[in-house]
Amino acid sequence: MTSPHPYRGRFAPSPTGPLHFGSLVTALASYLEAKSRNGQWLIRIEDLDPLREPAEATGQILGSLDAHGLFPSEPALFQSRRHDAYHAAIQHLLSEGNAYRCSCSRKQLQANFGRHPQHCRENDTAREAPFAIRFALSDDQCHWHDQLLGPQRQVVQAEIDDPVLLRKEGFFAYQLAVVVDDIAQGITHVVRGSDLLDMTAQQLQVYRALGAAPPHWLHIPVIVNNDGQKLSKQNHAPALDNHTPVKNLFAALSALNQQPPTSLLAGSVDNLLQWACTHWEPGAAYLTPW
Ligand code: GLU
Repeated sequence: MTSPHPYRGRFAPSPTGPLHFGSLVTALASYLEAKSRNGQWLIRIEDLDPLREPAEATGQILGSLDAHGLFPSEPALFQSRRHDAYHAAIQHLLSEGNAYRCSCSRKQLQANFGRHPQHCRENDTAREAPFAIRFALSDDQCHWHDQLLGPQRQVVQAEIDDPVLLRKEGFFAYQLAVVVDDIAQGITHVVRGSDLLDMTAQQLQVYRALGAAPPHWLHIPVIVNNDGQKLSKQNHAPALDNHTPVKNLFAALSALNQQPPTSLLAGSVDNLLQWACTHWEPGAAYLTPW
């Protein structure tokens, strides 16, 4: 699935509800960053957790992106159809000692400040009880560069921070699937919300363990509601009105501090996206007082 294109970006929503304004801002930023660099832009539906995903959400998200003129360079990829790849990655990580089985409950871990009372990393004893599979992190003071936010330093603690790759309920977890798919799709640049910033140092270790080079990351500030909470499906952010795409895109460009001229409001979606591509200034998003 890899490709010789120098820039491959993606928008990777979890379909826990319809597209809302916050996710439109992220989608638009990743689209503009890709298009303004002559790159490809992909859509990946991160449908890993059927218990949190209403059946209609994927169709609603794809319909909204369509209505807003955000067409991908390739057909969308669905994580629900990628279980074989995740399974293979876990087997590889287990066989190299980079993952382990863990039957600790959240309560037990909390009571032990993140240490595993059954010493799961050393004793592979969790095979009978329902177990999760976790990634075995190395202690690290991780330094990496965000293309918008600049130099980043994140502390990663072995054992205490070890992320789940396969949940006890049998669902594959985000920290595994996002890396496996960004590698498989040949993603070179990731633009996403800064609520995921803290995940990055751990993901760097997963890339390393899977023998792949990491992408460049650019985290944009997340949109918050009047109470200062991230606009999200959990906070019941309203679905976008697909009948007003120009107005929505204009508001998203303004939220990204691109200062679009009001004349765009009288034009078409194509016209607005064209202007936005030509004038895209990712650095301006940093200055947004969100
Ligand atoms: N699926 C994640 C979300 O909707 C985004 C994953 C990513 O961009 O790395 O929050």
